[in-house]
Amino acid sequence: MTYRSSWMTADLDIFRETFRRFLSTTLFPRSERWRADKMIDRDAWLALGEMGALCPDIPEEYGGLGGTFAHVAAVIEDLEHELPEMALPVAVHNAIVAQYIMHFGSHEQKQRWLPGLVTGQLVGAIAMTEPGGGSDLRALRTRAGREGNAYVLNGSKTFITNGQIADLIIVAATSDPEQGTRGISLLMLEAEGSDGFRRGRNLDKIGMHASDTSELFFDHTLVPAENLLGGEEGRGFYQMMEMLPKERLAIAVSAVAAMERMVQLTTDYVKDRKAFGKPILEFQNTAFALAERKSEALIARVFLDWCIEKAIMGDLDQVTASVAKYWTTDKQVETADACLQLHGGYGYMSEFEIARRFVDSRVQRIYGGTNEIMKVLIARSL
Ligand SMILES: Cc1cc2nc3c(=O)[nH]c(=O)nc-3n(C[C@H](O)[C@H](O)[C@H](O)COP(=O)(O)OP(=O)(O)OC[C@H]3O[C@@H](n4cnc5c(N)ncnc54)[C@H](O)[C@@H]3O)c2cc1C
Repeated sequence: MTYRSSWMTADLDIFRETFRRFLSTTLFPRSERWRADKMIDRDAWLALGEMGALCPDIPEEYGGLGGTFAHVAAVIEDLEHELPEMALPVAVHNAIVAQYIMHFGSHEQKQRWLPGLVTGQLVGAIAMTEPGGGSDLRALRTRAGREGNAYVLNGSKTFITNGQIADLIIVAATSDPEQGTRGISLLMLEAEGSDGFRRGRNLDKIGMHASDTSELFFDHTLVPAENLLGGEEGRGFYQMMEMLPKERLAIAVSAVAAMERMVQLTTDYVKDRKAFGKPILEFQNTAFALAERKSEALIARVFLDWCIEKAIMGDLDQVTASVAKYWTTDKQVETADACLQLHGGYGYMSEFEIARRFVDSRVQRIYGGTNEIMKVLIARSL
């Protein structure tokens, strides 16, 4: 049975073949070091930029390839397949930061930041979550007061992906917490030389070891007024609401790619591993467990492809994206557990890919809006 995603094209086939080879030969050998350093190095970002894997959907006038969300999805899938530790950092950069600038930025803002994001000279991050809470974005506390030609940021953020290395950080802040959603704006913080901005600890996680996750602190940090995304105060909450569907779809893209990979690597393992004188695939329990996971991965894939088509056409709605994020990541975690079980004791050893995927998959149900919040959003549409 062969299945080909409806959004794939001959051009993308060529790009992906080269990209996968590059990942496995050039970047994969460095992944052990990134795990030890708890972050990906700048050279890797620059190498990805050179490959055309950063912001591939950005128009040529801003340095991109002029592709579509299909290119963004293809890059996430290939990373998830070949080098999963890079999928999250690059998804934040490509599918979130660049998208905000492209959608809401003025022509000057696009000219200023997009070319650097495409080459990897600028690494992007987005800082919404605060120590006091991430699910309820209306309640955020980081303050942005206007003083002359600048905004003054005070407050802190936590769990920020790429926080250790990012040069350009989208900071969600409020001019007045009493104003609720209407007080929130998005400020583009250029980290270099920014007085009062401090990166905190690179947080110690149970998985995703090569992806850095940080606290960020703002103590009277000045952000020039022209760095207000979109140029109009109080639009931040609506901008986030508009962009979150794509962010959630990006998470679903990596979830489905991970499911497919885990089914494949476990199938290879059980064909090879023997117990009671025969390959363990020949036990009905093993075969049924994998048959169930393969079915779910295929069903997830077909639904995901429909969502990707919608995103390409600019037609992806909040509820569909929430369904995709919640269901595929739940299934990813179940698949990781079932596949680890079929590896027996080796499945619990860090050197085995399935062990890492088991731990790494767990966070997918948490970030990008928890799966409970996804159900809240879906339930509102009932
Ligand atoms: C590895 C990692 C990377 C991350 N990267 C980023 C990043 O780059 N940028 C960023 O801004 N954030 C990032 N986050 C933060 C992430 O988005 C938040 O952790 C997430 O939104 C949940 O917020 P919280 O942790 O404050 O949990 P809380 O909001 O405190 O939620 C705790 C629990 O309560 C439940 N809950 C809350 N409200 C409701 C409700 N209304 N109904 C039912 N249940 C509810 C939640 O589902 C959850 O189970 C990252 C997190 C991790 C772990």
